[in-house]
Amino acid sequence: MTTVTSPRLLTLRAMTWAVRDMAPANPLIIGVTELLGHPGCRREVHCDAELDELRVSQSVVDAGAPIAVDVVLEAMVGEAISVQGTVAVNWIGECRRCLELVQGRLVAEVNEIFEVHPTEGETYPIDAEQLDLEPLVRDAIVLSLPLSPLCRAECLGPDPESYPVRTQVQAQTESGSGSGERSPDPRWSALDALKAQLAGPAAAD
Ligand SMILES: [Zn+2]
Repeated sequence: MTTVTSPRLLTLRAMTWAVRDMAPANPLIIGVTELLGHPGCRREVHCDAELDELRVSQSVVDAGAPIAVDVVLEAMVGEAISVQGTVAVNWIGECRRCLELVQGRLVAEVNEIFEVHPTEGETYPIDAEQLDLEPLVRDAIVLSLPLSPLCRAECLGPDPESYPVRTQVQAQTESGSGSGERSPDPRWSALDALKAQLAGPAAAD
């Protein structure tokens, strides 16, 4: 049995390729045919990329936030390429003390190696003479986002007017009477809070 590819199918294929070529190219996928096998050859890459949301604890890079990628690719001996430079993006978060919005810009230094035969967890892959910078960009951002941001170093925490400090009595009342101890009457909690306030400065003297 012989397989004959119909002219119609060939036309369809050609159209598919044309459509694919018209689609906006992913700026993080870099063809490196001209670098591989030419140690010392360099190529600069400057692009703005977008990713889906990246989150670490209380810090977030919004989906679609422009990520500035400025790196130099340099061919190494063997089928490997080093990538050095910076990845920069704006992030937002919650102050760990006062819960107010915190904004910042992170600039992460990158210095990684891409290889045709990568070592898992150490180097990134080169596939079909292309390298995809996305995993590198993602890793660099996630590792640089602050785990517990502060609005400013001297932040004193919540404004007592907006977030009254809970007294021990209030905490016990809210946690229920499962402990077997007598639950204090919640009506006394205001008095207890006042008592704690009055005791504070006196004890300090
Ligand atoms: Zn704060």
